[in-house]
Amino acid sequence: MSVTGFPGYLPQANEERTQKLRNLCLYLHVGELDTGWLAGMQLMYYQFRDAGLKVHFTVEKGQHHRLETFENEGAARLFDQFDTVVLTSATLAVGGRFDYLKQRLGIQPANEKVLPQEFDFREQALREKITAVDAVLYTHTHADHILGIDDLRPLSFAHKPGRLPLYADPGAAEFLRNMFRYIFDADYKFGGLPQVEMKAIEGPVELFGARFEPVTVIHGETPILGFRFGSAAYLTDHSDVPAESLDRLRGLDILFLDALRYKPHPTHSTVEQSLKIVDEVKPKRAFFTHICHDLPHAATEATLPPGVRLAYDGMKLEFEI
Ligand SMILES: [Zn+2]
Ligand SMILES: [Zn+2]
Repeated sequence: MSVTGFPGYLPQANEERTQKLRNLCLYLHVGELDTGWLAGMQLMYYQFRDAGLKVHFTVEKGQHHRLETFENEGAARLFDQFDTVVLTSATLAVGGRFDYLKQRLGIQPANEKVLPQEFDFREQALREKITAVDAVLYTHTHADHILGIDDLRPLSFAHKPGRLPLYADPGAAEFLRNMFRYIFDADYKFGGLPQVEMKAIEGPVELFGARFEPVTVIHGETPILGFRFGSAAYLTDHSDVPAESLDRLRGLDILFLDALRYKPHPTHSTVEQSLKIVDEVKPKRAFFTHICHDLPHAATEATLPPGVRLAYDGMKLEFEI
């Protein structure tokens, strides 16, 4: 359970509440730049740890508090009508309902509102009838890019007796091994786990006769990877592309790049910034991805130069690899 969106409850952690939380595993996530919550949540982490609770505390480098960002964009309206808001994820539903969680937290009765998850590998794979995956290349370890790992499970079985290879830079590989220890450190004899193996990216990755060249981009304050393969390149998340990386993106037929919205964002590129990158490296075709709800499809495309389009779900392109 993430308690990031649980204001007013944990700071008054009396014995009764602490008991209720004892059997849960608590995940406290806070943005490094959120000074209002950082110190308090760290203190809470020490208190809970000392009280013998299972608790993990992670600081997201270079990030603001997610709710604060959300709130600044007018989403406060969503929460205004409530005294206390608990944000959780579908993984804590039992039989599609949150009754068990609510009972454990002692917060019944409570209203529920379901916010659909837009990054759903399973739904997308079913829609596009993807029945085989040969390898996975990770760009970085943010949740929207890694939480589909369990849905690789049925696809990984086709690799038996081998394993589906996953590629990530050494830091990301270590993070993924830790985060998904039940997969990577498993001592479980009865099958059922994704049959995957983690391989560290130390340079270009040769796969099936094609060369996937890692291209470093800056995502907030973190260097992460994009990939160039043949005449195409795919950069998912970036707020800056260093000059030496721009040089490796010249002469492309297709460039996919991040263009979140018009308004500046600490970890993502804006339409204006991405158009500058396109202008600089001059791919024949450019497609904006990681776009948010601020960019209505047709209206945005009408303002873009002809060689630049918004990517969309189910898009299929041909290129030289
Ligand atoms: Zn990211
Ligand atoms: Zn992302």
